[in-house]
Amino acid sequence: MGRIRVLSDVVANKIAAGEVVERPASVVKELLENSLDAGAQRVRLDVEAGGRRLIRIVDDGHGMLRDDALLAFERHATSKLSDVKDLLSIATLGFRGEALPSIASVSRLTLETRSADESTGTMVEIAGGRLLKCEEAALGVGTTITVRDLFFNVPARKKFLRSEQTELAHIASLATHYSLAYPQKGFELRHDARELLNVSPVADIRERVFQVFGAQTLDELVDLGARERLAPADPDEEPRIFTLRGFISRPQVQKLNRNSIFLFVNGRLIRDRLLLHALASGYASIIPPNAYPFALLFLECPAEEVDVNVHPSKTEVRFRRGTVIHDFVRDTVREVLTLARPISSLPMHQASSPAQDAARLPYSEFSQRVENADYRAQAEREALQFADQAAPVPGDLPEFRLREPQQYAIPGRLDFAGAPGPDENRLAQTFVEDPGAATARRGKVPDTHGPLPPGLAAEPSTSLEALRDLKPVGQLHDSFIIALGPDGLWIVDQHVAHERILFEKVLRQMAAGRVEKQQLLVPLVIELTASQQVEYQRIAADLEGVGFETEPFGPRTIAVKAAPADVSTAETEGVIFEILEIAEKELRQTSLEEIRRQMAASIACRAAIKINTPLDSTRISWLLEQLAQTEFPMSCPHGRPIALRYATRDILKGFHRI
Ligand code: ADP
Ligand code: MG
Repeated sequence: MGRIRVLSDVVANKIAAGEVVERPASVVKELLENSLDAGAQRVRLDVEAGGRRLIRIVDDGHGMLRDDALLAFERHATSKLSDVKDLLSIATLGFRGEALPSIASVSRLTLETRSADESTGTMVEIAGGRLLKCEEAALGVGTTITVRDLFFNVPARKKFLRSEQTELAHIASLATHYSLAYPQKGFELRHDARELLNVSPVADIRERVFQVFGAQTLDELVDLGARERLAPADPDEEPRIFTLRGFISRPQVQKLNRNSIFLFVNGRLIRDRLLLHALASGYASIIPPNAYPFALLFLECPAEEVDVNVHPSKTEVRFRRGTVIHDFVRDTVREVLTLARPISSLPMHQASSPAQDAARLPYSEFSQRVENADYRAQAEREALQFADQAAPVPGDLPEFRLREPQQYAIPGRLDFAGAPGPDENRLAQTFVEDPGAATARRGKVPDTHGPLPPGLAAEPSTSLEALRDLKPVGQLHDSFIIALGPDGLWIVDQHVAHERILFEKVLRQMAAGRVEKQQLLVPLVIELTASQQVEYQRIAADLEGVGFETEPFGPRTIAVKAAPADVSTAETEGVIFEILEIAEKELRQTSLEEIRRQMAASIACRAAIKINTPLDSTRISWLLEQLAQTEFPMSCPHGRPIALRYATRDILKGFHRI
């Protein structure tokens, strides 16, 4: 007798479950996707013990016919595909017919469902893949699936589960992000009867973002609107339209990992390296290389353009035109960041009540709240700590010295002379509204979303457009430029500002093939290590491209005959070593283009005005003017902020005038 046997369905399903059901959140994902595929308008999730004890989903979708209710648990049973050619145009979230049998093979599952076409419903009970019960039941239209004791029969898998809080955090994140992808539907999530998410149907993503994250986070995000790109089609095909929607964070929002990046392709939550890379390229030299943005991207493309049948959990996709999509995403991100030109505002310490804090909880803390059941107590403790912090003693403050103080009036100055005594608030209000009104008149921030609900209006003019109108008043510690703007007080880091100016200048000159350089009076001879020599040979032409004229000089040395105009002779050797080091480090990971950017960054950093350098008013004005003309005046090539703004509104708040 041969040795090969065909596995029983029970074993096959359990094997499939290994891929499909990794953890409680994967069950939630499959069940949510099924409910959405069934056209549900509202979905409710109840979870106990991080999803290990119980996951129940209740939907108001179209339900299942009696015969289908049992069939759904057969392997590869699906109502969503019938033919191989359907695989090329999948419009539903599910299609493999694997989820229900897989989940049922590793849990105790109950299905209760009724279709509108039948007068009674069906109840099916399965445990560890074995059918226990199948009977008629009086039910409303829709489907309820209850999954208990996940992995009760797979002890090995159970051991790999993380803490209850971690599993719950995954579930919460998943439900939240599906809710963002489907704003027109309602979502509820409860854990041990505690409500974690409850959002009613709304008109668009923006409102959903507000429901989920609150106004503060919405302020930190830039709306992409709806962007479209036409892909060149084959001669016999219609041109393909790709659409990108969503939100990306302003540069000052910097996350330590990718957990705040959510990518959806045709409404399906996916992990995709191509899209992640495109996003990172969009943010290159705007945030530090080891920081990540918050991003919610929804890409819509014709079903034939994307293969979703790559992995059993359907979280990976393959694009037919990867490059087109990559560049589309990268360009959109960059464009939107350029337009928004957002800046950092000065962090303000405010002691607020825990209740207020909870109301405008940024997402990171939302998930922390999930992780930390004791959130409220903690928030209270923190609030107390805030209150306890002693006000700074004047003697502790660094000396505030203004160089060459000048007489500048604050544009739109406050006139307290005629202020009606106690009712100062009104006056403050008018002032605060002013820049917004002005911006609206200039039409710089078109609101394409119609009126926002009260309290949602973002603070206007966080734009660096204001840079153009800055009036410098002096320098703090010979390092930071203090300036007055229409929207508040600005502090500009002179070194990073100049760095950004030079960086863009070098990049522009490189692109045009015309770099300014200076001949050295005496060639500079530099000795290289073995690996530096290898790198040197690889990038010699690029060194030339940024303005270094070099040539081999003896076996281990090179002679530098010219250097970029902005780099002093004293810095030349340092810059060359730095560039060789960059090339070596980036050898395996990055493109030549990225190395060029880093070369430009290195030159800019070495050549830029240092801190602790006194500047006269002409230099200061020149610097601000040049900065205003840069493409990304908000952060240096390494991602540090260039300018901080102390908004008039915050100043008024600080003085309790509003
Ligand atoms: P797939 O989603 O890949 O088709 P599943 O195993 O997830 O496979 O589900 C099997 C079938 O069960 C689906 O094709 C669908 O017809 C039916 N089904 C599952 N969940 C629901 C639901 N919530 N409402 C209605 N039908 C459902
Ligand atoms: Mg499914």
